[in-house]
Amino acid sequence: MAERPERPEAAAAEWSSPAQFTAISRIFDAAGIVLYVADLESHEMLFMNAEARRLWGSGVGRRCYDVVNPGQGHCARCTNALLVRDGRPVEQPTVTEVQNSANGRWYQCIDKAIPWTDGRLVRMEVAIDITDRILQEQFREQYLEMVAHDLRTPLSTIAMSASLLHVLLEPAGPSRTTAPVEAIARNARHMAEMVEDLLETTRLESGRPELRKSVFDLADFTRTVTSHLGTDAGRPVTFEASGPACVSADARRLERVLENLVGNAFRYSPAGAPVKLRVEARGAEAIVSVSDSGIGISAANQARLFQRLYRAAPGGKGLGLGLYNCRLIVEHHGGRLWVESALGSGSTFSFALPLVPHAAPGDDTASRLTSESHA
Ligand code: ADP
Repeated sequence: MAERPERPEAAAAEWSSPAQFTAISRIFDAAGIVLYVADLESHEMLFMNAEARRLWGSGVGRRCYDVVNPGQGHCARCTNALLVRDGRPVEQPTVTEVQNSANGRWYQCIDKAIPWTDGRLVRMEVAIDITDRILQEQFREQYLEMVAHDLRTPLSTIAMSASLLHVLLEPAGPSRTTAPVEAIARNARHMAEMVEDLLETTRLESGRPELRKSVFDLADFTRTVTSHLGTDAGRPVTFEASGPACVSADARRLERVLENLVGNAFRYSPAGAPVKLRVEARGAEAIVSVSDSGIGISAANQARLFQRLYRAAPGGKGLGLGLYNCRLIVEHHGGRLWVESALGSGSTFSFALPLVPHAAPGDDTASRLTSESHA
């Protein structure tokens, strides 16, 4: 089917008069949906439907940010710059979830540039109240967090008691009880890791994870973290770096990403085969790659690998949250995570983070600046 040419002038004719726009906006009033229109340059409020006026009072003629967020100045997340490209409205609307400072309720805001009745491009915002959904999500997160926290204590007691039993039994040499005691300790550790993964998922999915960022050299960091992983697992790990690559990141969270990728590389490749790590600065990004020569992943499975609860084959280590959490962590840092693999030919998992140019590790000013820009 032939693509329909973009015709902004024809679209303009759809709103030939403010009265016509008002009539259409009544549908939104009936559904309890906020609708308003503001000038892209001056921010002047041009139109508010009844629902918008009920929420903020009459604000036509004032600046949109003074109406929707009184006393706060320019909106921190103003979408105007995203709505027009090369003088034309961007086809895809910009969708954000924001809490309104006037009434504390949450809204899904759908912003789009449209031709106004006089032909100029303006921003139309449709805001749907999603407070009930957000409250349900918060309840689910809090409940999961509470259950996971409550599981932590008995689990660590089981793990500690099993270690103690092991120490007590050791002088007598291997016995019939050694293997079950080791199994208790191993499984308690395994369960503790799953509980941690679950807790981390709830924090990351909340969209507001607390990131403790600092500036450090990702090459140095990766070398240190992964060399001890190799030693602990008794597995060969090789490392190469093209030079320093400074990033602003939450070190504990990046450590979890590396532990996960390297742990999987160990798990899905033969015992003596080395796992290769590479860090390089390329363009505006620092890129870390973890390569193994293991079982590989089919193209079909690669497409679903980073989804929640996905396991390509039974017998994985956990709940299928490992790579999902890695992706969320990397994305919360403004980065991306991907895999290159073929069945039977090993896999390379890579993630890229924005480089902090001209920064020295531990540089506090850079750390503050980047924390702000990614908040
Ligand atoms: P889990 O937390 O259950 O271990 P992950 O999210 O870490 O799950 O991994 C999801 C699935 O991806 C695994 O069950 C495994 O099938 C596959 N996988 C991950 N890493 C590799 C790898 N390096 N080689 C082959 N398969 C892998």
